[in-house]
Amino acid sequence: MPRPIVATIDRAALSHNLDVARSLTTGARTWAVVKADAYGHGVLTAASAFADADGLALIEIENAIRLRESGWKKPILLLEGCFSSLDWHAAGEHRLSVVIHSDEQLSEFEATPLARKLDVFLKFNTGMNRLGFRIERARDVAARAEQYEGTGEITLMTHFACADEPDGHLDALARFNAATADLRYARSLANSAACFDFGRVGAGGSAGTAQQDWVRPGIMLYGATPFSHASRSAMSLQLKAAMTVTTEVIAIQSLQPGERVGYGAAYTAKRNERIAVIACGYADGYPRQAPSGTPVLVDGQRAPIAGRVSMDKITVDVTDVPLARVGSQVQLWGDRLAVDEVANAAGTIGYELLTAIAARVPRRIV
Ligand SMILES: *Cc1c(COP(=O)(O)O)cnc(C)c1O
Repeated sequence: MPRPIVATIDRAALSHNLDVARSLTTGARTWAVVKADAYGHGVLTAASAFADADGLALIEIENAIRLRESGWKKPILLLEGCFSSLDWHAAGEHRLSVVIHSDEQLSEFEATPLARKLDVFLKFNTGMNRLGFRIERARDVAARAEQYEGTGEITLMTHFACADEPDGHLDALARFNAATADLRYARSLANSAACFDFGRVGAGGSAGTAQQDWVRPGIMLYGATPFSHASRSAMSLQLKAAMTVTTEVIAIQSLQPGERVGYGAAYTAKRNERIAVIACGYADGYPRQAPSGTPVLVDGQRAPIAGRVSMDKITVDVTDVPLARVGSQVQLWGDRLAVDEVANAAGTIGYELLTAIAARVPRRIV
């Protein structure tokens, strides 16, 4: 028998969240972002739930090829583009759309004869200062790409550094619009956070061709919030958790006041306490930094972690869950406990917990 831990992936929730994204951004085309194995949900599972998306966007070319081999016929976008000439050939062979974010990539594109034209997404830097041509170069870079006979459709793209903060993308948007206002290309600007402000981010500049524009929602499709502020929880945004991680209680210890729990004896019982040991640890992807007090659900009731998260086990104070026993069901996060709440308690974000769920945790698709 495998250990009782399992990550249940809810395809109906994935499809629902895509519907939310599409209704927020009516008129634009949607890249469903499925990088990092669809934020831990499984790229092929996610693709089957995202059949209504206009395309899938990701980083990993090997997963792009798996998607093609599994029968995904609509566009696929490589969000960091190609890393070698082999990638360029694979992009041609598998009809992938490609981000070009640097002069080096553009030169390699021009130097690699391909069997077919590729649609390219020219990525511009509007303040993040990670990837992208300086936005002031938009006109020249687009003109150069336009000249190359291997170029198919051109889209102008940027990625916002601060879209998760109120009005956080407005400066970057203004810079993008100023530099591209009279360029008649489609645009791709909005991540999940900006999808929720699509009325303003929308089609970009005055020459924007809204119908051909693309949005790029990621985290929201998996039912977690892109925002840090508690008032914009996933639930308040009408999103449904797509991953629910569950396990079971495998032992119960009865402690007297002053007795300690776990590595480093980091937790001390304050009263007569019942401590449940559950089959999940940091080797399953649960964050080791989660402090005592981080919630889990035991038989549907909230209970606090007590002591350090270890590799394969977590200890939970179930004194106030009197029916808890060996075999009780435990939810670490999911449909009844927001991953964002657990992430917040552990000092991180939902993105990290979802993508960190370990390969040894079996996935169950419903
Ligand atoms: C990951 C990513 C996205 C999706 O971002 P979310 O915050 O998850 O919506 C969009 N665009 C690019 C370029 C990305 O790398």
